[in-house]
Amino acid sequence: MKPPPFAYHAPSSLNEALQLLGRLENARVLAGGQSLMPMLNMRFAQPDHVVDINGITDLAYIRREGMMLEIGALTRQRDIEFSPLIAEACPLLREAILQVGHRQTRNRGTLGGSLCHLDPAAEMAAVAAIYGAELVIAGPQGQRTAAFAEFALDYMTTCLAPEEMLVAVRYPLWPAESGYCFIEYARRHGDFAIVSAGVLLRADASGRISQASLALGGVGAVPLKLDAIAAELIGKAGSPAVFATMAEACGDIDAMEDALITATYRRQLAKTLLRRALETAYARATGQPLPRHAQHRAA
Ligand SMILES: Cc1cc2nc3c(=O)[nH]c(=O)nc-3n(C[C@H](O)[C@H](O)[C@H](O)COP(=O)(O)OP(=O)(O)OC[C@H]3O[C@@H](n4cnc5c(N)ncnc54)[C@H](O)[C@@H]3O)c2cc1C
Repeated sequence: MKPPPFAYHAPSSLNEALQLLGRLENARVLAGGQSLMPMLNMRFAQPDHVVDINGITDLAYIRREGMMLEIGALTRQRDIEFSPLIAEACPLLREAILQVGHRQTRNRGTLGGSLCHLDPAAEMAAVAAIYGAELVIAGPQGQRTAAFAEFALDYMTTCLAPEEMLVAVRYPLWPAESGYCFIEYARRHGDFAIVSAGVLLRADASGRISQASLALGGVGAVPLKLDAIAAELIGKAGSPAVFATMAEACGDIDAMEDALITATYRRQLAKTLLRRALETAYARATGQPLPRHAQHRAA
């Protein structure tokens, strides 16, 4: 399979890239190429111009300012995986990125590419929804920011205009004692998940939940934030029975269906994965032993 013909551009600065995107008709940004190259080869994408941003090295960084973590769009997924700063400040992101594809795809794949591609099951999109991440977008008029909920419009569709680029992602951090869990079910290791569940939560000294943010991936076109369930959790002491009741609410979600996976199966997976993610996140927040279903993953 060969891509359709296109003109190749390799800007070395953000300004140069933005000028190209503003001037050229039907251009596509190339980051890690882990989604764009297959789409070109299968001719799902047929750009006349490809703007390779790999030379804009100042778009690859991970830094923390107070309780805000900022990651440049060109940061490789593998650098996120091995960053001590992320392991300490944003362990949910690390747990999720370990489930993105394979180490070979993570070597090249970027955070920005994953968010812009916006596969319904992309782990990075679900994590951005859980944190309420802010996306920094550069265009001919300068920079603007968009909350993830405004950025992720629909099935593989973002709010980016053709002449804009994603340049960074900002995550408002949670305190170090917060519990977290990201789990998913995929047919084979490295496949896109059928369904994923991610949870961040905090509990007070008596074990009552004081803050929670939850989302499912793979059930809809964009990650499904479960704000009603998160609100229900506040003030409750966590227990397997409480989490099972909360997860039952996933039985009502409007899950998508395709030729291979029914909506009923996705809902069933959502219930099981959310219950397990809640149990694990709560155990981590309260310093209790991990539930048995999480022990093999922690080993
Ligand atoms: C075998 C395999 C398994 C995979 N498994 C998973 C998985 O389990 N989970 C998962 O989430 N992904 C998976 N992927 C996809 C992988 O994570 C990609 O890395 C990711 O989807 C795209 O990132 P990229 O940097 O490679 O972007 P590219 O492929 O270069 O680009 C993807 C899209 O984003 C646009 N884009 C990229 N960067 C920017 C930017 N800064 N501004 C504007 N537009 C931009 C491009 O124009 C293109 O439309 C898998 C890929 C393969 C090949």
